[in-house]
Amino acid sequence: MTELDPATTTLGIVGAGTMGSGIALAALYHGFSVRLYDVVEDARQNASTYLQNHLDRKGLGDRLDRVALIDDLDRFSEVDFVIEAAPEDLGIKQELFARLDALCRPTIPLATNTSTLSVTVIAAATSNPGRVGGMHFFNPAAVLPLVEVIEGADTEAEVLASLVSLASALGKTPVVVRDTPGFIVNRVARPFYGEALRLLGEGAADVETIDRLVEGGGRFRMGPFRLMDLIGIDINLAAMQSMYEQTFGEPRYRPHWIQARMVQQSALGRKTGRGFYTYPETQPEKPAPEPEPKPRQAGRGNAFIVEDGWGPGIRDWLSGAGLTCTDQLGERPEIAVVAVGEAEQVRQLLPALEAELEADVPILCQAANRSIAESSGWMHSPERLIGFDGLFVADGAMIHLVAPPRMAQGARERLDTMMLNLGRVPLWTKDSPALVLPRIVAMLANEAAFAVGEGVADARTIDRAMRLGVSYPLGPLEWMAKLGVERVLHILEHLQREYGEERYRPAPMLRRWARTGASSVDGFIA
Ligand code: NAD
Repeated sequence: MTELDPATTTLGIVGAGTMGSGIALAALYHGFSVRLYDVVEDARQNASTYLQNHLDRKGLGDRLDRVALIDDLDRFSEVDFVIEAAPEDLGIKQELFARLDALCRPTIPLATNTSTLSVTVIAAATSNPGRVGGMHFFNPAAVLPLVEVIEGADTEAEVLASLVSLASALGKTPVVVRDTPGFIVNRVARPFYGEALRLLGEGAADVETIDRLVEGGGRFRMGPFRLMDLIGIDINLAAMQSMYEQTFGEPRYRPHWIQARMVQQSALGRKTGRGFYTYPETQPEKPAPEPEPKPRQAGRGNAFIVEDGWGPGIRDWLSGAGLTCTDQLGERPEIAVVAVGEAEQVRQLLPALEAELEADVPILCQAANRSIAESSGWMHSPERLIGFDGLFVADGAMIHLVAPPRMAQGARERLDTMMLNLGRVPLWTKDSPALVLPRIVAMLANEAAFAVGEGVADARTIDRAMRLGVSYPLGPLEWMAKLGVERVLHILEHLQREYGEERYRPAPMLRRWARTGASSVDGFIA
């Protein structure tokens, strides 16, 4: 295929709303000519002002000559590509594609920017569905780098290749996706919101604690609630509902009543001034002092640690904070940490530790694949056992702690002080299956594994799309490689056991990778 030359290429864009005008701006930035069609006069006018302002800001005001805002679709007879960004309504889109098919030269590829409809079904309205594909841009389209190029059931290989080159010529990173509900990003991101909402609904923690854990421990740019407020609770709910309906009730996509109620009461997030937070964000008159973690000096005592991969980085953290890490019970340790996955080992260790250690030595046990209620049941003094998230303690400045059923008076305050002295801000939640980050990240990885198994895209492509489309610090499958497939599987099995729900069933592909010992993203093949 010959290289695309924007200087001699005219793009026809249908719909001059949020997405159409954003795509037009990207096209003008990159030197294309544009015909931008809309049926509404105001929409054309607003788009014109938007384009002018943005082009002027970049000193590209003269590029405005290259755009024609039109109210007559017949002028698409000479365009070289069409991108449709009309409202998300199958009837409107099918009618438009039937007209475009008749109007545009037969060799011209036709693309839809639909986010939830099937490209294959839209294409069925044309006489040649082979010329139709999807180009799913992200809002704001002139800024965000990702375009999902959707291969409909009938899309010809040459058409797909032209849409990929078009996306590149628009300065975007294209990823090719099979035409399946939610494509990659809108599908794989569902658990980020869905699991956070369930944690909130179960009273595991409040909105702010969950956001702080996800941002601080997982290095996500925004926690799920802050992000839902930004996206709009109604838009986020509609995406969830669409996935649920398109899959005829897949439990992983079941919308949450909290979101539905918020939409009913018009608490839609930033745009209405009220969502999970209120806007403009009110600063408390006297903000509660954020405890500054104080790293310790060296040589301040011992930490007893047993770790088998469920607490990567714990030794580095504690030795960095001045403790000498040991797995021998000789001298009295300041703290005992059990970051072990295997039940039998935990069952033996915990009673032995409580017998050996004075009552004021805290015993911490990782709780990503076993509740603290269960682990502490193996002890004579269950109130001594503190749960924690060992998997995400390495990177962040926080530590996620779980209180035992009946915690001794003052024990929590003493532990808070100790954690601050060890350089971690403590955040407490209830004893909740798979905690916060292990649960969210395992479910993201599981969703990605389902998508690989269903042939939506390959593992690398899915990870790239998630990093570019929703700015995740790591792709879900990179995360799975980092945590270990076996461990992700154990977390999911724990969730499924605790809830007894299909929602948490591990993807068949994930089980297969665990069995075959796949350990890197390149090894995660279907
Ligand atoms: P929008 O409502 O801002 O714009 C739609 C425009 O289409 C309006 O200006 C409207 O006047 C015009 N229109 C209505 N009927 C038309 C017709 N028959 N012919 C031509 N124009 C017509 O909507 P939007 O947010 O830009 O979304 C457009 C498409 O992009 C939808 O399919 C949506 O799912 C998809 N999308 C939206 C986003 C987003 O974040 N907004 C992101 C990705 C994809």
